[in-house]
Amino acid sequence: MHEVTQLISGAWGAGGSGRDLTVLNPTDDTPVSRIAVSDEADVHAAVAAAREAAPGWARTAPAQRAAALHAAADAVEAGAGELAALIHAEMGKPVADARDSVLAGVGTLRQYAELGPVHRGRTLAGADQAIDLMAYGPRGVVAVITPWNDPVAVACGLLGAALVTGNTVVHKPSERTPATGHRLVELFAPHFPDGVLNLVNGDGPVGAALAAAPVDVVAHVGATATGRSIAAACARTGAKALLENGGKDPLLVDAGVDPGWAAGQAALGAFANSGQICVAVERIYVHASVADAFLDALVAEADAWEPRIGPLVDRRLRDAVDEQVQQAVKDGATALRGGAVPAGPGAFYPPTVLAGCTDAMTVMREETFGPVAPVAVVDSFEEGLRRAADSTYGLAATVLTGSMSHAQQAWRALPAGTVKINAVFGGAPGGAAHPRGLSGSGYGYGPELLDEMTCTKAVHLEAPPSGW
Ligand code: NAD
Repeated sequence: MHEVTQLISGAWGAGGSGRDLTVLNPTDDTPVSRIAVSDEADVHAAVAAAREAAPGWARTAPAQRAAALHAAADAVEAGAGELAALIHAEMGKPVADARDSVLAGVGTLRQYAELGPVHRGRTLAGADQAIDLMAYGPRGVVAVITPWNDPVAVACGLLGAALVTGNTVVHKPSERTPATGHRLVELFAPHFPDGVLNLVNGDGPVGAALAAAPVDVVAHVGATATGRSIAAACARTGAKALLENGGKDPLLVDAGVDPGWAAGQAALGAFANSGQICVAVERIYVHASVADAFLDALVAEADAWEPRIGPLVDRRLRDAVDEQVQQAVKDGATALRGGAVPAGPGAFYPPTVLAGCTDAMTVMREETFGPVAPVAVVDSFEEGLRRAADSTYGLAATVLTGSMSHAQQAWRALPAGTVKINAVFGGAPGGAAHPRGLSGSGYGYGPELLDEMTCTKAVHLEAPPSGW
């Protein structure tokens, strides 16, 4: 059993709430890790430690900060096997996938280590003898609150961008992958001065205490409801809220596409990581002319995925996913495959294909964080586009089409941060976009995240009058 402790100003120790949380392995229900939950005083102590360390870290040369991040990246790479095993044990992701996602995190750290020192402002020519500088500086203390579904890669992005730009951090990883978060901070921390990176642990109330504390940025990757409450907390304190939240990503399958290939893309988008990806395919609009062949192929794909996918993170999530599926069936959808909680240990849920879905169904409107592919048939590309665009979320969307004009129409019309044509995944590393609506605000990724983590000071500089 992994004992999860907190880190405040370089000192490791148990959280002070007296409350414990135990994480069960979602594959076989055995206990994996136990968190000694932090209390509000711990959160405030961590924020105070970060605040105290902030001026020194802000004054540290950018190249030195980058060197620290490179060293942390090397340590995370060396610990990739161990981190992958922890991710697998805590949230069920197959070990090889978990290792790939840790290495993706290492790549992000190295990108930020390279980009940090060259991130800079502009100068403007004013009047003769005057110059204006747009000087970048760190924002101060950043709260980094992260989810469990890709715990190391997501944390690496936010920690790397915050630290390399001279901010200090209080990190709260998900209570569902706490030992993973704890180990990541153990690997990072020796490379930074005490107080620059602090760790608190626990569930929603601990995150809420951190979001309400006197920090300068709250960077949250997680569920939309959490993001909205963090935005409200930030409105009270004046902190900047950087939110990367849930999605309800549509997939459009146009007339004329190969239905077998389209089904492979749909299955990858809906079933990878057991559907627990923010940009998973969440609703499918397929043109009537290819619908039957597409559905047959999607069922075959689901059969092929079943032995490969891991469990959901826990039974609580599985119940929520199954509730949406059962409600859809009650409202007239047909489960062509899956759609029932299996017997046996763990939190497994089968890849599920739902046909005959309508836009009123919760499974077509709200995020379904599980391996479910709900399908609706449309009579034209325009109808698919209109229905795909009708969502309160705006994270990403995919269009499968052989028509360049439909591709052009789609990327312009879809109100989402990312539009993918002819591939559900595979965007270039470093890509960043603005999520829309309930999916969040600000750039959570890419070089643009360095802008989010810094503030710009305009300096107007004139020569003193001659004769001084
Ligand atoms: P979550 O919001 O429940 O938890 C994420 C973090 O927020 C955890 O550390 C949690 O303890 C904390 N938290 C919970 N309640 C809080 C509160 N009231 N105030 C402050 N912090 C609080 O999300 P989750 O279930 O861990 O993650 C899954 C969600 O994350 C999905 O909705 C998924 O789409 C989203 N996600 C989005 C992206 C993206 O880039 N847009 C990436 C990965 C995951």
